[in-house]
Amino acid sequence: MGMKILIDNGHGENTAGKRSPDGSLREYLYAREIAQEVERQLRLKGYDVERIVRENIDVKLEVRSGRVNEICNECGAANVLLVSIHCNAAGMGEWMSARGWCAYTSPGKTKADELAECLYEAARIHLEDYAKTFTDEDRKNKQVPIRTDYSDGDADLEARFWMLRKTKCPAVLTENLFQDNNDDVDYLLSTAGRMTIARIHVDGIIRYINKLQDEKH
Ligand SMILES: [Zn+2]
Repeated sequence: MGMKILIDNGHGENTAGKRSPDGSLREYLYAREIAQEVERQLRLKGYDVERIVRENIDVKLEVRSGRVNEICNECGAANVLLVSIHCNAAGMGEWMSARGWCAYTSPGKTKADELAECLYEAARIHLEDYAKTFTDEDRKNKQVPIRTDYSDGDADLEARFWMLRKTKCPAVLTENLFQDNNDDVDYLLSTAGRMTIARIHVDGIIRYINKLQDEKH
């Protein structure tokens, strides 16, 4: 049986906040656009993909994890993966200096760490142009294009987020740059930026599936 790829897009049009200070980027909308593009590209390549939130309104976390787990029960959790797409924020509605891409898994060593590693590999390749937009000011502020936490031996960050904890399949949450950093928002909204963010997910997910297949043979 092939892998079932589930894409979760965070928040809804009725979620408070979750936008750039100038209102040009709304996280719920951006995450949906990226999720749709990731789904489209993976489908074209023949993968089995489903977006678990098709509504524009905010769907409660327990409903979203419930949808994921229903599919896990049907297909077997080992045959399912989940990626939840978000944009980061450092403040409460003001422009901030924090920048960069990262991904989260739940604490402890699981299959999700392998999925996250594949997404990091893809991010390192595809964010090269984004890295060139970093200024001396960014470096002075200790900002890096790809944010990591190697304290547990791998690149990803760890957090007890609901969608990572309450889902039965390997699950990773990506924070695709900062919606409250002016330069990140410019990049996110550019054609190249949108293509790149989608490509990280498509490429990272395919790397993971190929790795699983290699392990079986
Ligand atoms: Zn979010």
